Amino acid sequence: MNCCDQPGLLPVDQAINQLLDAVAPITESEVVSVADALGRVLSEDVIALVDVPPANNSAMDGYVLRFADVRKAEPTDKGTAILPISQRIPAGKNPEPLEPGSAARIFTGAEIPLGADTVVMQEQCTSINDGEAVEFPVTVCLGDHIRPKGQDITSGSAILKRGHKLQPQDLGLMASIGLAEVKVYRRLKLAVLSTGDEIVEPGTECGPGHIYNSNRYTLAGLIDAMGMERIDLGIVPDDAEATGEALRKAAVKADCIITTGGVSVGEEDHVKACVERLGELQMWRLAIKPGKPLAFGRVLDTPFFGLPGNPGAVFVTFAIAARPYLLRYQGVEGDVLPLPLRVKANFDRTKAAPRQEYLRARLDVDEQGVIGASMHNNQSSGALSAASWGNGFAVQPINQLIAAGDSVQFIPFSELFA
Ligand code: AMP
Ligand code: MG
Repeated sequence: MNCCDQPGLLPVDQAINQLLDAVAPITESEVVSVADALGRVLSEDVIALVDVPPANNSAMDGYVLRFADVRKAEPTDKGTAILPISQRIPAGKNPEPLEPGSAARIFTGAEIPLGADTVVMQEQCTSINDGEAVEFPVTVCLGDHIRPKGQDITSGSAILKRGHKLQPQDLGLMASIGLAEVKVYRRLKLAVLSTGDEIVEPGTECGPGHIYNSNRYTLAGLIDAMGMERIDLGIVPDDAEATGEALRKAAVKADCIITTGGVSVGEEDHVKACVERLGELQMWRLAIKPGKPLAFGRVLDTPFFGLPGNPGAVFVTFAIAARPYLLRYQGVEGDVLPLPLRVKANFDRTKAAPRQEYLRARLDVDEQGVIGASMHNNQSSGALSAASWGNGFAVQPINQLIAAGDSVQFIPFSELFA
């Protein structure tokens, strides 16, 4: 079988490229405190106006001296030299220039005095006469244990670029140049609609014919993990008029609409027809498993993702197709696709399929330290347990079999939702 056995199914890579080509990234920005900027996307380069560290400082508790004075000193029989102590420099003090022929007591992070160029760590030193002088090996090297000014960051350099999504360490990096606030793109607002007459909310009774709404909660987690805002528009019944009304309302409120269910070919699937009426359907039906009926388009002028109803398919299609689009829309420049690993398959797939399958899988390490992926035994698109059990997707490409021991592509969930 090949792709043509299911005409009209768009291969995943092509679909992602088309989606990325269609993005009009957000331009509005806002200023937030650096402490609150985790996961936000920079809307301008961050330029350092200072050096980090701002001055040469000591990397050790010990003694600071001029290397030339060690050279000049007459070594003792033990191969040591002795210098008088001329000052004490704790961290936070502005030191006096170092008197020639002397050493200064110094502590980690304290500024190196003018004239000094070498630190001897205190473990190698002996204090003489209660701190009047210090004895140390003559084998010290010029520049030892000094962190030079600007070693980490030089003034004038761009420490982070526009379009960068801020990680925890970036907050510290920005703080290190004295920044208290930073300019980021405003958060995208994503409207979430769950469709289906059978859907009821957790916390209420699930009567005959009903099923709990899990998609709303999976999406809440996914959207929160991406650092975006969600506008929850609840459950929409399987009714053309109600669906149209809900979509119109969502289009006005949000930057992007995400629906679940109602995009397949059943008589009760109204979402697709409503989108065609209110806007435009630009993509429908992908060669992806689970998640074939994924739809993309616009409602009025608002981008729209119609995810399938099946809970496993919601997880996969959001992670694989919607996520890169949303990241680019949010202003992320550079890579928005997850970096896959290649690992050993600890499972067999004896049936090829005309769709690329995202198997919910888990990485294990065997006794030899070889990393392999195991697959959950229930890969049904309706099942969510496999996704909770797994820590990534093992990818089965179109029309390919997998035998245990084969190398497979694995996309860790940490690549997707970190
Ligand atoms: P649909 O695409 O609307 O035909 O839905 C496909 C399957 O997913 C059906 O079995 C639905 O009951 C189920 N489903 C749809 N929406 C949800 C939801 N929000 N939570 C749990 N299951 C759902
Ligand atoms: Mg439905």
